[in-house]
Amino acid sequence: MIRPHILLVEDELHIAGGLIFNLEQEGYSVVHVTTGEQALKQAPWSECLLVILDLMLPDMSGLDVCRQLRSRDPRLPVLILTALGKEQDRIAGLEAGADDYLTKPFSLTEFLLRVRGMVNRSRWYRSPKADDECFRFGDNLVFLKEHRARTVHGDIDLTDLEVRMLQVFFENEGTVLSREKLLESVWGLAPDTETRTLDNFIVRLRKYFEPTPARPRHFLTVRGKGYRFCRETTKS
Ligand code: CA
Repeated sequence: MIRPHILLVEDELHIAGGLIFNLEQEGYSVVHVTTGEQALKQAPWSECLLVILDLMLPDMSGLDVCRQLRSRDPRLPVLILTALGKEQDRIAGLEAGADDYLTKPFSLTEFLLRVRGMVNRSRWYRSPKADDECFRFGDNLVFLKEHRARTVHGDIDLTDLEVRMLQVFFENEGTVLSREKLLESVWGLAPDTETRTLDNFIVRLRKYFEPTPARPRHFLTVRGKGYRFCRETTKS
């Protein structure tokens, strides 16, 4: 069970304080930052279920923050809060990729209802079986059908074999897969085939998807047994 995690970007401390208090009362954990730069640098990308974003920030426009957030993660829901109530501002916000919009001052009840709806949708998208088009782990997004991925190191195209291998790992998340099983299900090879192909593939996947390939956190070696895919990494 992932704890709901909300990133709140709001420079007005009295507003932020009230929102955090009420969100925490509802059981959400909240990370609060006051500038656009902090939002873009410190956001816990792999855990965030919702971003609540004020448009008037001291260092940059909330619209720019929104655009950058969405270019990194097209599915990260963004709720914009602003004192600007004009229709053109609302449209600008939605065009920048925001999913919803609340004009200050807003009712707390309405705010919490919107948050609940957005967090629930976000959680649904992030569950592994909900969406076979996009699989997310760590800061990586994999689009199996389209043979492409947005990884921690940039965008890449995937080969047929890489897609097949990823699929086997994703479907067996958390369980140890023997070399034999992988050779058979990915390459259709007899289980006793002697080959370095598999090991070379693992090296390649780590290079694509691991922030530090030498210290893998997702594609783990289980000594003497095989490999195990880990979607969530444990925090230290
Ligand atoms: Ca502000």
